[in-house]
Amino acid sequence: MSSITNNERFWETIPFDQLNSKQWEQICDGCAQCCAHKLQDEETDEVFLTNVVCQYLDQNKCQCSVYGDRHVHVPDCIKITPENAKALPWIPDTCGYKLLANGQPLPDWHPLMTGDSESTKNADMTITGKVISEADIDIDDLEDFIVEDSYFNRLCRKIGA
Ligand code: SF4
Repeated sequence: MSSITNNERFWETIPFDQLNSKQWEQICDGCAQCCAHKLQDEETDEVFLTNVVCQYLDQNKCQCSVYGDRHVHVPDCIKITPENAKALPWIPDTCGYKLLANGQPLPDWHPLMTGDSESTKNADMTITGKVISEADIDIDDLEDFIVEDSYFNRLCRKIGA
């Protein structure tokens, strides 16, 4: 008898808050959209997305180049958890964690659905080619780089997320 952890579609059978660390990492689709800086209005708390990403993001691989000790390099880099995945306003609607936290299915382009680690990129859902690094701007000008919420997601309306 195969154990539940060997279930190919483990994210549909194991409760979201009971995924092991390997399964948890696989829920990330690798879009790197959470690595884009956001600005928050001090009066209204409204959050604005920018197309400026963290200097430690490898924009081609969509991977953090200091992932293991990112909190040393960027102390305010927020870790996504089962508890906050639903509530963090800056997570894109297409984020695998946000979808599962809200009881929604993963989109058909997600690597867990396709078995292809490049499928997020092929679906044009990553930040690649759409951003600039914070290292290349004056961070005081961040306001000049605010973009629409749908900037990275040409498909997000389609999946109804
Ligand atoms: S937004 Fe979500 S799916 Fe995309 S890279 Fe960040 S954690 Fe992964």
